[in-house]
Amino acid sequence: MAPQTGTFDIAIAGGGPAGSVAAVLLARAGFRVALATLPPRGPRFEGLSARVAAILARHRLPLAGIGPAAQRHVSWGAFQGGQNSEHPADRSRFDAGLLAAAQAEGATVVFQAVAGVHPDKGEIRLANGQRLAARLLFEARGRRAPRQSTELNRAELIGPDTISVAGFVPPRAGSMDSPRIEALPGGWIWSVPMDGGRLWLQAVGGAASLGRTRGKSAVAALWNTVQRDTPLPRRPAVHAIAPRLAAPDLDPRCPRLGDAAVALDPLSGHGMFWAVSSALMAVPIARALLAGEAALARDFYRNRVAETFWRQARVGRDFYREAQFQTPFWQQRAAWPDDAPAHDTDIRPHVGTRVVVQDGQLARREVLITREAPGGAAFAAGQEIVPLLRRLNGRPLPDAARFHRSVLPEAPPRAARAIHQWLLSQGFTEGAQIPWDTANRETDPCNYDPAA
Ligand SMILES: Cc1cc2nc3c(=O)[nH]c(=O)nc-3n(C[C@H](O)[C@H](O)[C@H](O)COP(=O)(O)OP(=O)(O)OC[C@H]3O[C@@H](n4cnc5c(N)ncnc54)[C@H](O)[C@@H]3O)c2cc1C
Repeated sequence: MAPQTGTFDIAIAGGGPAGSVAAVLLARAGFRVALATLPPRGPRFEGLSARVAAILARHRLPLAGIGPAAQRHVSWGAFQGGQNSEHPADRSRFDAGLLAAAQAEGATVVFQAVAGVHPDKGEIRLANGQRLAARLLFEARGRRAPRQSTELNRAELIGPDTISVAGFVPPRAGSMDSPRIEALPGGWIWSVPMDGGRLWLQAVGGAASLGRTRGKSAVAALWNTVQRDTPLPRRPAVHAIAPRLAAPDLDPRCPRLGDAAVALDPLSGHGMFWAVSSALMAVPIARALLAGEAALARDFYRNRVAETFWRQARVGRDFYREAQFQTPFWQQRAAWPDDAPAHDTDIRPHVGTRVVVQDGQLARREVLITREAPGGAAFAAGQEIVPLLRRLNGRPLPDAARFHRSVLPEAPPRAARAIHQWLLSQGFTEGAQIPWDTANRETDPCNYDPAA
């Protein structure tokens, strides 16, 4: 391939779900896109939530390698039984399908190792010496992307050292009907039955269980610390999986997507959701940055990244606490990152200003912040919420019919009903004085600098 210098609007490093979904959407939005990645390697299976499958379908993205939803059996402290369902995902096929979709949309996909991403020069250098130059770069090399700064090695921003060892194992009695997740004193295991009577088993333990040895015997030591019933797979896939906040701030020359920004504990089952939903922000961020609106992009990115990291870290901690083991593996994880509640139950509904996506562009808007929507909600059923609530002028929320007549007469009845329903779901009650703050305290010049 000839050097690609100067050819692209956008060049992306890394073609996992985050990079390849971003490539598809950016190409569809009319950008000339290049993506450099190593091809998917070796078998790897994960659980994909129904929510991610729905987002992919909504955006006409392929679901290659995604099996039908199966109920997951959970054995976790006091909880024993079926809970939630997940789609078994063959990651090699899934990733390959998304890369093929990026090519089909017109993105140039280069299967080469990335030697370096150089935001200052606007180029990605490949191991074979070629360069992909572009007006804007995206970093999506997952956990292999370098961290933004050494300051991020602070203990609260990187979770306890955790290792996953996974592979095909002989069938296990009781594990061949559905995916299973099980807490054990030395760690936890997740398994999913495959066609042909095979079982994919993932054992997760603390890095300390690798012991002093190296290579396969260290991997076997960790495997045996977590569980002893099943022999180590012949070709174990080993991953370091400590959760971490890798890049809390946006580099306006090279925004990050997916695990390259925030890598979550696989226990959360939220990693692919974050990868795909962060890719959905690639188009509005690219438009803002290329139009010189770096402040909008920076605030949008920072909110999304920080919110995802802290919320998922604390939800994960609570889940570790529920297992009720007193071994070092569980004690460490039940204490990280802090003791703050995962969900702030003290939020009174109030108005703030956030950067939101409106018609594919970033825009600073007033949002309603509630316990259910701590990140702020700007729209419900296609209507901007805060101006609507101001129409109530401090009066109690009427019933659905009067809400339509007096607050939103211009909307079709169904839309008005949907918004009324949404307000109820946010903790508003009919007939009661609405306990919310109409003043936007965050825009007070004392604590908010729109130019910052
Ligand atoms: C063991 C394990 C189990 C997990 N289980 C689940 C689960 O059940 N459910 C869930 O939702 N999430 C799970 N996750 C998390 C999920 O896998 C990630 O969050 C998701 O893959 C992140 O997508 P990404 O595109 O950001 O990064 P990745 O998927 O890591 O993609 C990065 C891409 O960049 C490429 N790359 C990296 N370095 C280079 C380089 N130098 N040159 C060229 N290419 C490069 C890689 O080849 C890869 O294609 C799990 C993760 C692990 C490790």
